Amino acid sequence: MSFTKLGLSKPILKAIQEQGYSKPTPIQKQAIPIILSKKDVLAGAQTGTGKTAGFTLPILELLGEHAGSKGKRPVRVLILTPTRELATQVHESIKEYGKYLPYTSAVIFGGVGINPQIGNLRRGVDIVVATPGRLLDHIGRRTINLSRVEFLVLDEADRMLDMGFIHDIKKILALLPKKRQSLLFSATFSNDIKKLADNLLNSPKLIEVARRNTASELVEQLVHPVDKAKKRALLSHLIKKENWKQVLVFTRTKHGANKLSGQLEKDGISSAAIHGNKSQGARTRALADFKAGSVRVLVATDIAARGIDIDQLPYVVNFELPNISEDYIHRIGRTGRAGSEGIAVSLVCVDELQYLKDIEKLIKSKIPSKVVEGFEPDPTIKPEPVKKKGNSRNRKRARSPQKDNKPTTSRSPRSRGRNNKI
Ligand code: AMP
Repeated sequence: MSFTKLGLSKPILKAIQEQGYSKPTPIQKQAIPIILSKKDVLAGAQTGTGKTAGFTLPILELLGEHAGSKGKRPVRVLILTPTRELATQVHESIKEYGKYLPYTSAVIFGGVGINPQIGNLRRGVDIVVATPGRLLDHIGRRTINLSRVEFLVLDEADRMLDMGFIHDIKKILALLPKKRQSLLFSATFSNDIKKLADNLLNSPKLIEVARRNTASELVEQLVHPVDKAKKRALLSHLIKKENWKQVLVFTRTKHGANKLSGQLEKDGISSAAIHGNKSQGARTRALADFKAGSVRVLVATDIAARGIDIDQLPYVVNFELPNISEDYIHRIGRTGRAGSEGIAVSLVCVDELQYLKDIEKLIKSKIPSKVVEGFEPDPTIKPEPVKKKGNSRNRKRARSPQKDNKPTTSRSPRSRGRNNKI
């Protein structure tokens, strides 16, 4: 099936062709006709499935239906995302897919100056991609008017709730016209998401695409049992011996990311860390260097890595396993995309065996395990509880984020295991 059968017009088809997409992905095949028929949508899809084009293309198509209002352009499309990285990527996609259309767009997130954003909004834009905290700032300053929004998209809604944005989202929803088309995308389907969907969506069509990473043959998964103290040496050994290029490494904490990145540099492996404490400029630069190949290893925390989209990322390493099993799926979803093969390696010490069990239960399969010669775990080491990231202060912030430039990395322990997969 080709894109031409989906009801998209020439300027959009041309832009898609220039992107090199030959056929729609499963989510696109399902979502595009439904959105074009003006139905609300509840979609279970994660990053890597082509979901962004799945909602952007039909919205761009529908915008043409009554274009050309006189005077300043009102905001007609509002897309909310949990992180600035995702907001940037969605915005980039809109610019690409809409390059032969007359619409204007702006991206709004915290951690950068507000004035250029105010300038853009003042000139008038059709499409706004925003993180909730900074959008509320603009609302408070009356620098944005949402009273003429026709399309609302909540992207990665589960992550937005995890990050404590629910109150912000409710405040924003209250300002939107009742008559609009709403689309909700989420990788998981917790009770909270269902409640949000009930409030937000009008007789929605449900779209589900296979969770590509649970059963995906594209991602080869492997566990290397190793003592905690030897993890860094093992990582350097693997990168050098296997000659890995473009390795995305996950650590549980921001501090751990910085430390590991510094140690890898000392081992002669070019590396950069990205996490919520880095400035937007530093994060953008690190990602660009990594994409360009001048930085071999990018060390990231879960939140910072959300939405990172790098075509054909070949290696993902879990330097530490996440204590939230779903994060494992999000992490390994960074590799094995768009038909290319990927490998996800987890370095697991004795303290993390319970996390490994939880993950294997979630993905319903046992991950092959292989001890690397010279890095055999010492059987006399007894497990110690892994220090919880996120203290009570963080948890409080998680419930009421003031600024989205500091997304919290903690999640209420109660949310653990509550998500049902779509
Ligand atoms: P997303 O799930 O929206 O983050 O998209 C993941 C990646 O898939 C992006 O790099 C897109 O450029 C790419 N992509 C989206 N649609 C297609 C398609 N139909 N064919 C090939 N690649 C695609």
